[in-house]
Amino acid sequence: MKKLVILGGGYGGMKILSELLPNNLPEDVTITLVDRVPYHCLKTEYYALAAGTISDKEIRVSFPEHPKLEVVFGEVIGIDREEKNVLLKDAQPISYDDLVIGLGCEDKYHGVPGADQYTYSIQSIGKSRETYSVLNNLPPGSVVGIVGAGLSGVELASELSESRDDLQIKLFDRGKHILSAFPDRLSKYVENWFVKHNVEIINNSNITKVEENTLYNHDKSISCDVIVWTAGIQANKVIREMEGEKDSSGRMVLTPQHFLPHDEHVFVLGDCASLPHAPSAQLAEGQAEQIVEVLKKRWNGEELPDSFPPIKLKGVLGSLGKKHGFAMLADRPLTGRVARLLKSGVLWMYKFHNG
Ligand SMILES: Cc1cc2nc3c(=O)[nH]c(=O)nc-3n(C[C@H](O)[C@H](O)[C@H](O)COP(=O)(O)OP(=O)(O)OC[C@H]3O[C@@H](n4cnc5c(N)ncnc54)[C@H](O)[C@@H]3O)c2cc1C
Repeated sequence: MKKLVILGGGYGGMKILSELLPNNLPEDVTITLVDRVPYHCLKTEYYALAAGTISDKEIRVSFPEHPKLEVVFGEVIGIDREEKNVLLKDAQPISYDDLVIGLGCEDKYHGVPGADQYTYSIQSIGKSRETYSVLNNLPPGSVVGIVGAGLSGVELASELSESRDDLQIKLFDRGKHILSAFPDRLSKYVENWFVKHNVEIINNSNITKVEENTLYNHDKSISCDVIVWTAGIQANKVIREMEGEKDSSGRMVLTPQHFLPHDEHVFVLGDCASLPHAPSAQLAEGQAEQIVEVLKKRWNGEELPDSFPPIKLKGVLGSLGKKHGFAMLADRPLTGRVARLLKSGVLWMYKFHNG
């Protein structure tokens, strides 16, 4: 029997399972999935979990059950490529014939002193639960600083403002305008939404230091009761510590077939992989489909493709609380209730197909 081991049951890992398990797995191949969480978590909704507007259970999806799938609950701490073993914390190593590493990402603090110690996070389910707990236990009038006004910072700030309109929310944005990579109309719409909902946007900010309950913007101190970091991500530590060429965010540089240039049995997936687009759930799923193609060809003894067509992305959908949203679809901006409905629809469809 050959063993395919998948590390991480996130969007990428789940897509590989859903492509292979129905009837695409050869007789002599089994799959082992390893995750530190006993179910698939819908990371794209962590902002709502942290804000307290959805329950934990709403963003969990069970891993599939199948006679040829073994699910191992454990913390991956490294890979021994020579022995073809996955190293786990406080457990025996797991051997593999082919390995897919899809362990997602972590916060990147850009060397800002104190940021890792004194800020909260929404990058893992465990950290989002801690963030939920501190945000929702704050007394009225407390100040919440959110550092980073990309998609997750914007979604968290808006959701929190609806969840707790008694808090003072300050959103620190590095750019001249919020979401400056998007067309003007869209970024103005989001800015106006925040003005209407009493969220203070601090543009051109540069957080230089963080201390307990204090942010330093251009070295000027600002008191906050809770600080949440949404200002950057990097590949999972397991990938950052592996040998091999990485990009500036610690993501592994791969062959066009998505395996390591020096080891065709180790694939790297999703937020861990250096790909020509910003990391996203859609991208992880698109890449997973291509990895499945490579695995199937290899198992059938067929020649591998030299390259794949670029992964097609459908666009970006963002929420502003439960009723409003924004989107870039086919390079066209969309704002308002329809954008929000589309976002809810995508989530509903995902749960319907995977739940
Ligand atoms: C607030 C927020 C909103 C977002 N919104 C969108 C959106 O609207 N659209 C979109 O496309 N993308 C969105 N993203 C990005 C998207 O969530 C990620 O790009 C996507 O989850 C990456 O998928 P993945 O399979 O690489 O990793 P993940 O989905 O993060 O899965 C990684 C898995 O690995 C497990 N794991 C991690 N480390 C270990 C370890 N050491 N040992 C064992 N298991 C481990 C985790 O438990 C997890 O199950 C959003 C992200 C955030 C934070």
